[in-house]
Order: sequence, then structure tokens, then C-alpha cells
Amino acid sequence: MGRKFFVGGNWKCNGTTEEVKKIVSMLNDAQVPSGDVVDVVVSPPFVFLPLVQSSLRSDFHVAAQNCWVRKGGAFTGEVSAEMLVNLGIPWVIIGHSERRSLLNESSEFIGDKVAYALSQGLKVIACVGETLEQRESGSTLEVVSAQTKAIADKIPSWDNVVLAYEPVWAIGTGKVATPAQAQEVHAELRKWLHNNVSAEVAGSVRIIYGGSVNGANCKELAGQPDLDGFLVGGASLKPEFVDIIKSAM
Ligand code: PGA
Repeated sequence: MGRKFFVGGNWKCNGTTEEVKKIVSMLNDAQVPSGDVVDVVVSPPFVFLPLVQSSLRSDFHVAAQNCWVRKGGAFTGEVSAEMLVNLGIPWVIIGHSERRSLLNESSEFIGDKVAYALSQGLKVIACVGETLEQRESGSTLEVVSAQTKAIADKIPSWDNVVLAYEPVWAIGTGKVATPAQAQEVHAELRKWLHNNVSAEVAGSVRIIYGGSVNGANCKELAGQPDLDGFLVGGASLKPEFVDIIKSAM
């Protein structure tokens, strides 16, 4: 069976109520391929999740940008997976490079978070990616494999996981990976899953690309055989996000 195209919009720490309403109404009016062809999942900051969840068209879905590593309780400032489930939020992004680097989240911690979120019934967009220094020193594949292994070691099933390859040097920099660079890493990640998890998982898990994706570069990237969609930051706040969704066709 083919892998359904997946387009995620990571709004990061952006937006006011008014801006969020504008983006939702732009998405609600967009003419895009049907839900049989593409999964569209947008990820507003926590405080806007209920607003977006209740006003967004029903063929698009929402994701939180993070959640706590275990059951909620005495963890000031955190939001638990149980709370997201309670609100009917289906997806969560885990392991974004901004959290890995700015908040020192380790690969092991991220593996634990992915496992806990899945155990509570959430679907997870799990992010991996190398820094510029790591790419230049030739360790890209080693880095993304180790990050993927830290997740694979902790989870019983990949059924509800989308793996996002996001080279750190391409995030928010305007410096997109070339289609060949993205395809190379995606193919290696699939090979890693084949050799270390199973052929079935390697064939079915969606591996999406993130890092300076926009309306102009999405079509060529989408044509790569191992690239099953995108995780979009900056451009997900703009009308061109609709063009990115259309690259599914
Ligand atoms: P960008 O961000 O599209 O703004 O580069 C991607 C991401 O961080 O998910």
C-alpha cells in the first residue's frame, strides 16, 4: 500500500488570537486534495489548540508542539499527554531540534516522550536531524540513525509515528536541502528501519522533510521517492502553505 502524503504546519511560538483566526479561515477556504490523498496537521501553540481544534475544517487535524514525558502531576509549566487526549488533540510533535538544542532534550528523553505519548493514544511526529557541523564532518547518517534508534528502542510499534527529517542547518534559514540531499537521508532512514525494525515498518512509515520548505521548492522535493511529505515552519503561517499541501498531487 502506498504511503499517504503528510503535510504538517509547525506554527512554533507565533500568533495572536486574531492571527490564528485568520490562518484558520485561510485554511478553511482552501481548495486542496481530499483527505484520502493527504493528511494535513497544523500545530499551534498550546494556548490556541482549543480555538483551532474547534474552528478548523474537519478534514484537517491539530498537533501539540510538545508534551510531558510521563503522567502529569507536579511538573510546573508542562502539559501532559493525558490532557491532550482529554481535549481530543490527536497528534503531537516530539523532538523538534529547537527543543533538542535550546532546551537540552536528549535523544533518550525524546525516546521516552515518544513512547509515553503513544502509550496514551497520541500520534507522534518525531523529529531527527543533524547540525551543520555534523553534516560538514560527515556524520549526518550516524547522527540521524542514533536519534532514530533512541526512539525505536523505546516504542512497541511504529503504526502511529511519522518520522520528520529536519536538518538543523535548513530550519528557518532559507537554506533548503536539495532534493538529492533530502532523498539520500530519507532512503538511509528507511534502510535503517528495514535493518533494525522490520521490512514492513520500513515500507509503511512516512518520512517527511522539514527545513525551509516553501511554495516554490516543495514540488521538486515532493517528487523524491522516499519523501512522504513535509513539516513546514515559517511558510505554514502564510498562504503558500496551501501550495505546499497541493504538492501532494
Ligand atoms: P522552517 O521550519 O520551515 O521555518 O524552516 C521547519 C520546522 O522547524 O519544522
